[in-house]
Amino acid sequence: MTSRKTIKLKPKEGRRARAGAPWIFSNEIQMDAAAKALAPGTVVNVAGDDGQIFGSGYFNAKSLISVRMLDRAADTIIGTGFLVRHLQRALAVREAIYARPFYRLIHAEGDGLPGLTIDRFGDTVVAQISTAGMELLIDPLLAALEKTIAPANVILRNDTPSRALEGLGEYVRAAKGEATRIAVEENSVRYFADLAGGQKTGWYYDQRDNRAFMAALAKGRSVLDAYSYTGGFGIAAAKAGAKEVVCLDSSAPALAIAEDSAAANGASCKFVKADVFEELERLAAAKETFDVVIADPPPFVRARKDLEPGAKAYRKLARLASAVVAPNGFLLLASCSHNIDMERFAAECAAGIARTNRRAALIRQAGAGPDHPVHPMLPETAYLKALVYALD
Ligand code: SAH
Repeated sequence: MTSRKTIKLKPKEGRRARAGAPWIFSNEIQMDAAAKALAPGTVVNVAGDDGQIFGSGYFNAKSLISVRMLDRAADTIIGTGFLVRHLQRALAVREAIYARPFYRLIHAEGDGLPGLTIDRFGDTVVAQISTAGMELLIDPLLAALEKTIAPANVILRNDTPSRALEGLGEYVRAAKGEATRIAVEENSVRYFADLAGGQKTGWYYDQRDNRAFMAALAKGRSVLDAYSYTGGFGIAAAKAGAKEVVCLDSSAPALAIAEDSAAANGASCKFVKADVFEELERLAAAKETFDVVIADPPPFVRARKDLEPGAKAYRKLARLASAVVAPNGFLLLASCSHNIDMERFAAECAAGIARTNRRAALIRQAGAGPDHPVHPMLPETAYLKALVYALD
């Protein structure tokens, strides 16, 4: 163990990391030749300027986030045993919450495993690796999965563009079994998800509780599910007794899956392939309204530099969406951009709704479900924001 390299912080740096924050940035580190020579993802000890080691992490000189902390002890062995301990803990938390094995099993730093997300769909898991450090741990990870839940299919969906920041290429492969269209069970609804070709891991578990909330409101009402993807909100609403549901998305493959899911649930929905902004303007011009409107767009603030244009886009969406909410209706506005915080997002939504001169009451402020735990010292892990308004 004496062979493990130590990364030293600059003088006065590291207060947050010592207190348990999981990221250390490149400007906080003594980036000497020995550090630069370490292969991306190497497991290291981390020490302050005084030489005192305060934890283990993995290191990538190429990345702006140079160290991601893994443990608060020196020389922690990072291998199958370490991963098994984290998987078991994460599993215990999910099993305390959900009756069936359909959930996000690992939410990166929130579950103590930076660079890794795993979604579980019964005996199939989809893993997504975003860092060089985690990429080096693929074999122990597969062994740890075998020892914990022994899934029939393990799909590596390693095709997120952010991998480039870590010097990693993109690929999708089945490490075990095969990638197919599978069934997802959520809130007593059965959906389909395309694990190899779909977005992210093929399904967005993060909106589960918000889908249930909106489905309960939808009974007997008309619903517009804008940015429906594969119908997460819309089909739940239809199953809960909505009188009419329109799912709106620009992706034909996503709508095709939604259509099959609706049929499998005996739910009747209409599917419209269109650009949401254009369609909302058309509906408003035609004076068509819905009792419940859901708008769960892709991230409008992809990078910090996009904050102002992104914030403006959220305000515009709030304005256009509230314009098609029927009197005494409900509106959900969501953002999955971690680069805009709840306060700013809520302010933009309020400003957008105000443009339609409607009185609005905020009745729910929510984030992702509990299978997306937030690291208490990394607010970025709380990326999802969902606001529900009652409009007069
Ligand atoms: N609400 C969904 C997730 C939405 S993901 C759920 O509950 O699962 C965002 C969706 O927005 C994607 O399906 C994408 O195809 C769609 N999208 C992106 N830009 C769009 C646009 N301009 N108009 C319509 N849909 C768009």
